[in-house]
Amino acid sequence: MAISLPARSVLPSWLAMGLLAAGAAVAVVMGHDGRRAAQVAMLVLPLLLWLRWPVASTGWRRVRAVAVFALLAAFLLDGAVRAYLVKLYQATPDSSLVLSAAANTTAREIREYLSSQLSTMALAIGVAIVALALTGVAIAAATRDQAPLSRPGRIAVIALLVVCSIGYLSKPWRRHHPLTFWPTWAEQVKDLRLAWSDQQGQRDQLMRNARAASPTIAAAGPATVVLVLTDSVNRDNMSLYGYARQTTPQLAALSGEEAGRLLTLRHAWSVEAATLASLSGLFSFGERDADDPAGRAQHLLALARTAGYKIWWMSNHDDVAVDQQHARLADEVEMINRQPGRSTASLDGELLDCLEEALVDPTPRKLIVVHLLGAHPHYRLRRPPGDHPFDDAPDAVDARMIRDGHPVWLRESRQDYDAALRYHDDVVAQTLRLTRRHVPDAGQGAWMFLSDHGQEVGHDIVHAGHSPGTAAGYRIPALLWRNAPGFDASLASRPFRADWAGWTLAELMHLRWTGMAADRNVLDPTYAWRPPTLPARVSRFDR
Ligand SMILES: [Zn+2]
Repeated sequence: MAISLPARSVLPSWLAMGLLAAGAAVAVVMGHDGRRAAQVAMLVLPLLLWLRWPVASTGWRRVRAVAVFALLAAFLLDGAVRAYLVKLYQATPDSSLVLSAAANTTAREIREYLSSQLSTMALAIGVAIVALALTGVAIAAATRDQAPLSRPGRIAVIALLVVCSIGYLSKPWRRHHPLTFWPTWAEQVKDLRLAWSDQQGQRDQLMRNARAASPTIAAAGPATVVLVLTDSVNRDNMSLYGYARQTTPQLAALSGEEAGRLLTLRHAWSVEAATLASLSGLFSFGERDADDPAGRAQHLLALARTAGYKIWWMSNHDDVAVDQQHARLADEVEMINRQPGRSTASLDGELLDCLEEALVDPTPRKLIVVHLLGAHPHYRLRRPPGDHPFDDAPDAVDARMIRDGHPVWLRESRQDYDAALRYHDDVVAQTLRLTRRHVPDAGQGAWMFLSDHGQEVGHDIVHAGHSPGTAAGYRIPALLWRNAPGFDASLASRPFRADWAGWTLAELMHLRWTGMAADRNVLDPTYAWRPPTLPARVSRFDR
């Protein structure tokens, strides 16, 4: 009696049970909706019933308190992680987006991701700690001073337990219990990584598909085509596309020098908000079948190689899936981010030497793919340290973000993002200058630059990162250059989609094969735009 008094005065047992029930309900509703939430609630309820069951021994009461705390904590954290993924990515943990991101993420990227999201997550982490502490206190209070259950009370508890056992007996329901769900999830991630680690069979199939289409090169003479593929660059942040901060002075200068030869596609879109899916679309002409990736699909690199191009793939990414699905179709693969002795935060500019080496190679027909990290989070690591061009004075962009009520951390993210783009501008402009300098004598030179997807940095919502749910996640730059012939200026206003970029690249390489679709090549007179279906709301694709 003496022990139970303080507990009763602070938190009566019935109120403690009420708090636990409310907490469990919030956890369930945060993580699931509709019928699924009801199913998961049936999995949580026995824990609360167990707490209400009278137990005489103090030792057993302690064991029970610890077990119930651990299980309720699992439900709470499960709900929080699910709510976080839905809010930021409109995705469940077992969606292919999240599974492939997890399977394709290195420890370094996890660290970078967590530190870049720290400001967003700080509040959530604080709330989770408070919720867990409250759960512990409530469990202690609920069991410290329990009135014995009346006979009807016991019958009610037993009846409820029988009902809830349905949840535990039914496999599709049980699957959503955090203790079954997350170990299965980890297995799925591991399987996916294994499946990627050897895709030689699929690459062989893609080479057979290419040979069956008998690709040829329609132009005589040597040719050098460079594809600069960047990451997470939103065209709205490039001064070349009208952004108020001078993020792309070099490309703007080149655009003046090369007028007629350098085409800026004003309305370029990705149809995917993440790298892997975007690259799959781009290299498979928008026709890759997720269930049968090799199948009868064509891969741009396999076609180009079969037609007689020598292919280089040079990358600043450290990425198993991209490596397996695309890079290894090339003749020469250079992954600077994997070489020992390089800083793991290696800058894109370090690829320029590799590019020049490939450009001076005497092979007559060359396709060189340069895969940049671009402005992929963490933005601060995508430029040389100490480079802060936009931090000093408040400017129009800052003023606008203040007016929109954006928090300080987001305005700082935008400054870091724009600084990364300013550095990136140097690198991209340099790839074009190098290409221009090394156009083969009496031959063709072409260069294409585009981003795999966009990036949200306080454009539509308070978020910095990949963004499947907003237009900013899909707004990309796309630039084309060739030495001759030039481009008609009217082409610049044609809407363009990244998953059709392969058709345009094929044109720059003068590739011909059976099964071509010229109406998806933005340079072709028969080009027929079809707007993609995006998970984000886009009112117009021509702006
Ligand atoms: Zn990406």
